[in-house]
Amino acid sequence: MSVPFIDFRPQYETIKDEISGGLKAVFEKGNFILGQEEKDFEAEFAKYCGANYAVGVNSGTDALYLALASLDVKQGDEVILPAHTFIATALCISYTGATPVFVDIDDAIYNMDPKAVEKAITPKTKVIIPVHIYGQAAPMDEINKIAEEHNITVIEDAAQAHGSSYKGKMIGSLGDIACFSFYPTKSLGAFGDGGIVVTNNEEIYGKLQMLRDYGRQGRYEHKIKGYNSRLDTVQAVILSAKLKYLDQWNEMRAEKGDCYCQLLKDIDGVIPPVTKEERTHVYQTFAIRVKDRNRVCEEMQKNGIGVLIHYPIPIHLQEAYQDLGYKKGDFPVAESVADNVLSLPMFPHITNTQIEEVCGKLKELVK
Ligand SMILES: *Cc1c(COP(=O)(O)O)cnc(C)c1O
Repeated sequence: MSVPFIDFRPQYETIKDEISGGLKAVFEKGNFILGQEEKDFEAEFAKYCGANYAVGVNSGTDALYLALASLDVKQGDEVILPAHTFIATALCISYTGATPVFVDIDDAIYNMDPKAVEKAITPKTKVIIPVHIYGQAAPMDEINKIAEEHNITVIEDAAQAHGSSYKGKMIGSLGDIACFSFYPTKSLGAFGDGGIVVTNNEEIYGKLQMLRDYGRQGRYEHKIKGYNSRLDTVQAVILSAKLKYLDQWNEMRAEKGDCYCQLLKDIDGVIPPVTKEERTHVYQTFAIRVKDRNRVCEEMQKNGIGVLIHYPIPIHLQEAYQDLGYKKGDFPVAESVADNVLSLPMFPHITNTQIEEVCGKLKELVK
């Protein structure tokens, strides 16, 4: 039996009727750009995160870039981020002209290590970007404390953690600004690209609204040199329908995650994901660590099990960032995780039978 890495169809079945009606209304009204449905979704999503404001944009990458731009981050500034994340976390910093400063991660939950953050701070540090990697919160109390002491802004990269919580608070309201992606494979995914920036800061909110819409205030007045980066009304209709099910789908993910963890316990050479106290894990990515990863990955794929690697090369070792002069050995934990990590099939409607199949194959292969 083959098992896909992700299967979108059961989610689509759930929301099909609702989105058909919503999309038809948009098609008939023709309010494709910043239509009422888009504004409604921004309000719903801000509320969901326990924050005051949200601004829909083109993608998660743009959400991060525009968040930095709203703070006037520029050449000569430094922004701290973990070495183990998707490349977009670093790219958005580079777009501003600022320098990405990588730090190592912690060995248990793969999030940025606050002790490493503390050491990386210089007078040039403007922003810290913790990434809630795989769907579990970074150590936000520790990071916020460091940021406060040094008067630094915190931007959550929440692209993998919609609906996850930390000490009873929703992700998206834990720093100064939070950025989400609606890339289709994320736990809240659009039918195309999309992203959103969430904040409690009214001034940043105002700036973001201009930045994503040619820098304008009103129709013809352009206060700043803005961009064209908006969330389509069509995507907002789909996201709004899905948002109603997000908690339910995250609960299903958590149950499936528990099922995996039970079965994986018995396999020598596999380290299942760990959830720290006072956090929820939404398993946007169900990442294990396994011996001899590359062989296991290849064999699993040959056997029809959809596995992927998030991510095989830490960013400081990517060719695109060779100019920064990092080398192998600079971030030993991130490098070791990149060598061993393997993402197993995970989506809300994955069945226990499918999970048993995945774990069975894994057990055969890990010897
Ligand atoms: C997906 C992702 C992004 C980028 O989002 P896009 O919508 O693909 O631009 C940024 N950071 C992290 C951690 C991500 O997983």
